[in-house]
Amino acid sequence: MEIFEEIEPLRAFLKGKRIASKSIGLVPTMGALHHGHLSLIRASKAENELTVSTIYVNPTQFNNSEDLDKYPRTLEMDTQLLSQEGCDVLFVPTNSEMYSGAQNLAFDFGNLDKVLEGKFRPGHFSGVALVVSKLFNIIQPDRAYFGQKDYQQFQIIHRLKEELKFSLELQSVPIVREDSGLALSSRNQRLDAEGKRKALLLYESLKYASAELLKGIRFDIIRIEVEKRFSQLKGVKLEYFELAHRATLQPLDEADKIGEAIILIAAFVDEVRLIDNMLIDIN
Ligand code: AMP
Repeated sequence: MEIFEEIEPLRAFLKGKRIASKSIGLVPTMGALHHGHLSLIRASKAENELTVSTIYVNPTQFNNSEDLDKYPRTLEMDTQLLSQEGCDVLFVPTNSEMYSGAQNLAFDFGNLDKVLEGKFRPGHFSGVALVVSKLFNIIQPDRAYFGQKDYQQFQIIHRLKEELKFSLELQSVPIVREDSGLALSSRNQRLDAEGKRKALLLYESLKYASAELLKGIRFDIIRIEVEKRFSQLKGVKLEYFELAHRATLQPLDEADKIGEAIILIAAFVDEVRLIDNMLIDIN
């Protein structure tokens, strides 16, 4: 695996590959890699001749400095995992390589970044859009891979691609879970065994809501029950639990458009902020 820390040598390397007509797949990450990330690498390898992964804990997408400081960093292990998985190129830039120090550009996605994550993490998606734009420009991939786990992020990047006319295909990869149902996340590393047990309440709430919606129960009734379950468990705090339209992410009250709906959840477990979601399966 070739490792680059600077933009220009990476560009020169990729230019050579492009001249040789190699297709390029991009997998952006913040490191602390797990099987969810590796499933993106596998998806890219299946469709592209060259897979480029990036590890960069992007400061502009953190609205909370403690969260940024505590974000797990395991570069040595990550490099080993990527190499074992057959990733071809790893880009690990420094902050000064990615940001000039001037005031950062800002993005506004209208209604799309005012709800859910955007509502609770102001500026988060502006930072995501900024770093993803930079990576798309530097790497110029044919395809880029993102997880369904960050569902709203995928919709934001889709809009970014449409508006800025990036010439690439976006691919969404299903959520990888532990056997228990807990969605894999780099932040899970900050939980002990008891914390991981408590974190199961996120997935269980999604499953419960999905089953109740299919029975025709109203979402506001379901939410009350979920809020009750969170309030009864020590060390957890529900931030949001919403039924939303899959494309616009605007809230839905009823399950009348169930085939177009998604349930999304964010909660703190022992001070660690976790997210999860579930598309409602009609069949
Ligand atoms: P992160 O390192 O958290 O920024 O995530 C990098 C990419 O991996 C994003 O596109 C995430 O959506 C994706 N990802 C994170 N967790 C999972 C998971 N459990 N299953 C599938 N993809 C994931």
